[in-house]
Amino acid sequence: MASGDLDPPAPDAALSMEQDLDFWFADGSIVVIAEGVGFRVHMSLLSRHSPVFRDIFAIIQPTQGKELGGGGSHQGVPVVHVTDSAHGMHCLLHAMYDSRRYLTDMVPKIPFAVLAALIRLGHKYEHSDVMDEAAKHLEDYFTTDMDTWLKFCFKNRVPNFEFSAEKQADLFECVNLARLTGKTAMLPAMLYACCQLGIDDILAGGKRHSGVIERLSEQDVLLCVVGYTRLLRLSGKIVPAVVGATCAVQCQSWEACSQRMQSLRTVSYKTAGILTINALAGLEWPRRIHKFTVLNCWTGLCRACRDGLVQSYRTTQREIWDKLPSVFGFEKGELGEIWAERYTVWHENLC
Ligand SMILES: [Zn+2]
Repeated sequence: MASGDLDPPAPDAALSMEQDLDFWFADGSIVVIAEGVGFRVHMSLLSRHSPVFRDIFAIIQPTQGKELGGGGSHQGVPVVHVTDSAHGMHCLLHAMYDSRRYLTDMVPKIPFAVLAALIRLGHKYEHSDVMDEAAKHLEDYFTTDMDTWLKFCFKNRVPNFEFSAEKQADLFECVNLARLTGKTAMLPAMLYACCQLGIDDILAGGKRHSGVIERLSEQDVLLCVVGYTRLLRLSGKIVPAVVGATCAVQCQSWEACSQRMQSLRTVSYKTAGILTINALAGLEWPRRIHKFTVLNCWTGLCRACRDGLVQSYRTTQREIWDKLPSVFGFEKGELGEIWAERYTVWHENLC
């Protein structure tokens, strides 16, 4: 951490601070002040887990009583000012004192803001356990595995965390955290989610109630712009997946089903709006093909034919999923091993 991240001690800062209710230990050996909130904690514990805190404490201890005299100490305990938010510091200390239990006790309703704070501060203070433990919950959701992704889409599985009411800003922060920590395997699913917001919103950023606007980097905005067009093109692959369908071998009512298949092909050709940025949307997705999955030509198909058609669609979906890295212009190896194993190059004329 740069020394500039520490504020110079102000003479009366310690006096005007508000004491944190959870982290004010009578035997604490250091007072950390963030956004005017003081945390009286144990230097030894913070030093044990964070080389950054260790370095900070090494600097301030010998000077205690000189540069840090008066407002620089509180009841004889040295004070250090940090530029982090009070909420962030509160979360970090919880994770340091309570270990994994802090997050696991909140599953499946871990507030996104808690995960974001732990990832950001875990990274800043070089406490990789805290950072990795929090990131794991995002990695679980912004998965590299399509079957897992489908479970979340169809609500067969719920995430371990909850986005805030400012989901747009949360999504952009997710991307920025993945970039910050180098956990790039999450980026295809994250950028896909960002694209669903539309280019206008991506360019505008996500405004928080605090007034802060969360934005993607210029580089990631460009990836989204390129990816957006490609996703629209890929979504067109659903047409051949549906119109190329034929009756299943196990069909129970071939004559009726083949007539309905024919109607389905006619409807599919005529269906405007089949192109969507949600290229991975399922057949049952309300805003996509739902309009004809309620028609007789769909519902009247025998089980075997309907399953066959869904299967054909799933194959197309899987092809699109495997193309996500190249949709967003990533090179092989940029996103880690799992994506690299099934990397496909984007060919403008073939996709
Ligand atoms: Zn059939």
